[in-house]
Amino acid sequence: MALLRVENVCKSFFGNLAVDHASLNVEEKSITALIGANGAGKTTLFNCISGYYPSNGGEIYFEDKPVHHLSAQKLCKKGIARTFQIAKPFGDLTVLENAVVGGYNQAQTRAQAYEYAKESLVFVGLEEKSDTLAYLLNTGEQRKLELARALATKPKLILLDEVMAGLTPSESVEMVGLIKQIRDSGVTILMIEHVMPVIMGISDVIYVLDRGKMIASGTPEEVASNEEVITSYLGKGME
Ligand code: ATP
Repeated sequence: MALLRVENVCKSFFGNLAVDHASLNVEEKSITALIGANGAGKTTLFNCISGYYPSNGGEIYFEDKPVHHLSAQKLCKKGIARTFQIAKPFGDLTVLENAVVGGYNQAQTRAQAYEYAKESLVFVGLEEKSDTLAYLLNTGEQRKLELARALATKPKLILLDEVMAGLTPSESVEMVGLIKQIRDSGVTILMIEHVMPVIMGISDVIYVLDRGKMIASGTPEEVASNEEVITSYLGKGME
């Protein structure tokens, strides 16, 4: 059974369909990628799945239950966490306090929220920065904090929106390792990414959006050899 099913979801802005009857399935404990050119509608689809925008049509099922009417807060309680394309730490809170914000999602007590936060900071390798104010972090550290805050919510599914953006090559390698570790810990991953070698290397399934429509899906090999995907997004050289 797919953990997440997106069926014919639409989202329009001022009459323009940014997401046009898009469907996808995310299998439990998989890494599923969503790719497509700038403006294809990837983040908008993430926003619909995670409850940041109400969709204008279609249905979304999480653990086989309809969730397309739920708020972001309720979806997070059900186990859907996300990171943002532009990291958004609370700059004047410490790293630990930022992670605790996520910890309160499932925690029954303050102590438990701190426990979840500390665990997630250890997981991403930021525990030594626990007392640092978040605005002092560099880009790579901010991305890790974003991840830690999402993990502290104890998600079943995590939506990663371009977590590689702005990372140095060594930070990217570290981030790929973290993503695999998250999957190995039992958390399902749906990720938007533009770095093709990364996507091709770690995804079980790839979906391709083009001007709001889902034009292809399959294994990395299938997608990389799909003529429509090559024409609309990958270009020659990836096939
Ligand atoms: P990128 O790879 O550049 O992040 P994307 O595939 O994530 O692009 P979206 O950000 O989802 O694309 O944008 C899809 C379309 O919807 C674009 O034309 C964008 O201008 C439009 N759009 C997105 N959010 C809004 C909004 N809040 N109001 C109006 N139009 C929007």
